[in-house]
Amino acid sequence: MFPLFHIAFPLIIFEIPYIKKRVKINRCALIIGAILPDIIDKALLFIFRLGDGRYICHTLFFLFTSFLFVLVINKLLFYTKLSNKINNIYSIPISFLIGTSIHLLLDLPSIPLFFPFMEYEFVPTGDELLLWLKRIFTNPFYLSTEIFGLISFIFIILNNKLYTFKAVWSYLIVS
Ligand SMILES: [Zn+2]
Repeated sequence: MFPLFHIAFPLIIFEIPYIKKRVKINRCALIIGAILPDIIDKALLFIFRLGDGRYICHTLFFLFTSFLFVLVINKLLFYTKLSNKINNIYSIPISFLIGTSIHLLLDLPSIPLFFPFMEYEFVPTGDELLLWLKRIFTNPFYLSTEIFGLISFIFIILNNKLYTFKAVWSYLIVS
């Protein structure tokens, strides 16, 4: 799976009227959770040549530790009154957790789910960045998921009338 789809898929789930009406979500935290595993693991691969693009952040270990980290930071901010008062105390951490969980689900089965508690083989092949970009534009499956992502964004913008900065802000932060 590739970036646009990873962001669009969780957002589109919360556009389903039944879910949208009942569940309050912090979309900013949702989006960060939904792309963070790739941002960190791709950076580790492209810059430090560690793992194979699905590394330590594509694990259950990351899922729980990152959630705990966001939870603690959010609690500290909440008690120092720096956190957004519109959200309840669990809104940001839970939204983030939903984002990371959906990312891992979309990448299944080829992720090292139980790393570092189980051994996995990570084989960098060489020109990963080039291969990765090539795959987005030439593999029909990846290309179609990215096009789906793009169409989803257009739908989300129109459906929520996100034509002003204020509208985008309240879409991302409030609910
Ligand atoms: Zn990934």
